[in-house]
Amino acid sequence: MLSSAASRASLVLKNGGGAPTSKQCLAAFIISTRNYASGNNDLVVIGSGPGGYVASIKAAQLGMKTVCVEKNDTLGGTCLNVGCIPSKSLLNNSHLYHMARHKDLQNRGIELEGVRLNLDKMMAAKSNAVKALTGGIAHLFKKNSVTHIKGFGRITGPNEVTVDKPDGSTEKINTKNILIATGSEVAPFPGLEIDEKQIVSSTGALSLDRVPEKMIVIGAGVIGVELGSVWSRLGAEVTLVEFLGHVGGLGIDMEISKTIQRSLTKQGLKFKLNTKVTSAANQGGKIKVNLEDAKDGKKEQLDCDTLLVCIGRRPYTEKLGLEKVGLQVDNKGRVPVNSRFQTSVPSIYAIGDVIAGPMLAHKAEDEGILCVEGMAGGAVHIDYNCVPSVIYTHPEVAWVGRSEEQLKEEKVDYKVGTFPLVANSRAKCNDDTDGLVKVLGDKKTDRLLGAHIVGSVAGELINEAVLAIEYGASCEDIARVCHAHPTVAEAFREANIAAAFGKPINF
Ligand SMILES: Cc1cc2nc3c(=O)[nH]c(=O)nc-3n(C[C@H](O)[C@H](O)[C@H](O)COP(=O)(O)OP(=O)(O)OC[C@H]3O[C@@H](n4cnc5c(N)ncnc54)[C@H](O)[C@@H]3O)c2cc1C
Repeated sequence: MLSSAASRASLVLKNGGGAPTSKQCLAAFIISTRNYASGNNDLVVIGSGPGGYVASIKAAQLGMKTVCVEKNDTLGGTCLNVGCIPSKSLLNNSHLYHMARHKDLQNRGIELEGVRLNLDKMMAAKSNAVKALTGGIAHLFKKNSVTHIKGFGRITGPNEVTVDKPDGSTEKINTKNILIATGSEVAPFPGLEIDEKQIVSSTGALSLDRVPEKMIVIGAGVIGVELGSVWSRLGAEVTLVEFLGHVGGLGIDMEISKTIQRSLTKQGLKFKLNTKVTSAANQGGKIKVNLEDAKDGKKEQLDCDTLLVCIGRRPYTEKLGLEKVGLQVDNKGRVPVNSRFQTSVPSIYAIGDVIAGPMLAHKAEDEGILCVEGMAGGAVHIDYNCVPSVIYTHPEVAWVGRSEEQLKEEKVDYKVGTFPLVANSRAKCNDDTDGLVKVLGDKKTDRLLGAHIVGSVAGELINEAVLAIEYGASCEDIARVCHAHPTVAEAFREANIAAAFGKPINF
């Protein structure tokens, strides 16, 4: 109703001929600006990523009158539209293609001929997964009575959000509390213009219309190795250039990083570590990429058809109106909050990628739930040591808690228990033995301090370790818990047996 009235008003102004009268201006203003639900909302959430949509649903379930404002056409934010979900669809399907193509299935007695890639279909499968899941949020909003308003949300007061709607109208929403869940955007590489065709960000790399002959990836962190794996499996020659001396980004245990680098190298990915990209330019359809060795300054030039820039993400607060309410971002562009996710304006909160901490969907979700529970008077507690990290390559990599390097730095006396997947019966049955489980326990108390896994189902397995660390389990506790046989999870138990008693059983 409002949108058609608002567009009628703007038509009056556009088509009326000559300058609009002050009466016309007033009419257009009244029609195109209104206060939503007379200001009796409890919460307006700006952004519908995993942080914002989960917070909205939880708030509504707690009885709050909740509005969620989203500027994009679909709900779900980075994660569902251009992040976790499309990348995992491509990772799964490119892995199956790779297995069919590279004799893996043949070695298992499954003979296939004429295996071909239909990239359009693979992309369609990805889009279907995205469509189903983003549509699912719209359904959940209805089910939980969350009001969804499409448009760009601006904070125009401590208790007011103004939405610029796609039809040109604006709507003012009064509310008791505001939750900023505006997430993050791709960090630009200085001097490089992303065209999303040949020089692409992760977003473009999820939708290439052909397999590049040669791809260079700037950054061998989590997203770089995942997307590099996808295109390598589909046939591209992929080189990852990384400024750091290891793959997998910050926080990864070095033994684990070396293990996954070895596996990926076996699959054909090439790594140039301790190397920085200084510039790149498109010359006659080829991208020339200039590199410099970070240690000795030696220069080199490589060329490729597609350059993927994966150097990280930065918080997104553009035109949000923070200055209107006296809020300032920190030196990394993040919104500062206290332990209840509250900004210096008591009615305004923030969660997810837009605040400090790991940029992960499950971290954003947990913060969203805790934040609105806190608004409703509940306790707010999150242990960031218990937030797991996963790299969805094959094998997968997953970890939680402390790495060996961190424990050394913190001068904690620790012990190590490891178990190789080559000795795990299920991994052997599946002919999928690449990887290991490594656990770190406190030498004095036996408490589990960290778990680090490389293996085909590491992303599933890590949740057992998260539960154990969250509840303060010792390595012996886990060693004494019955695990179903044959499962890869038995390797986690074995690593804990090794840590608790000095030796595993099956190795
Ligand atoms: C390729 C890729 C793969 C990834 N894979 C994983 C993974 O496997 N696992 C994982 O945990 N994480 C993954 N991530 C990270 C994950 O996507 C983010 O950590 C997560 O989406 C952050 O959630 P959020 O709710 O804070 O913000 P976002 O998901 O970024 O959502 C923010 C939303 O706010 C909206 N918005 C912003 N400003 C306004 C405004 N003013 N008005 C209205 N709406 C606004 C945006 O349009 C967006 O929809 C991946 C990211 C990428 C790029």
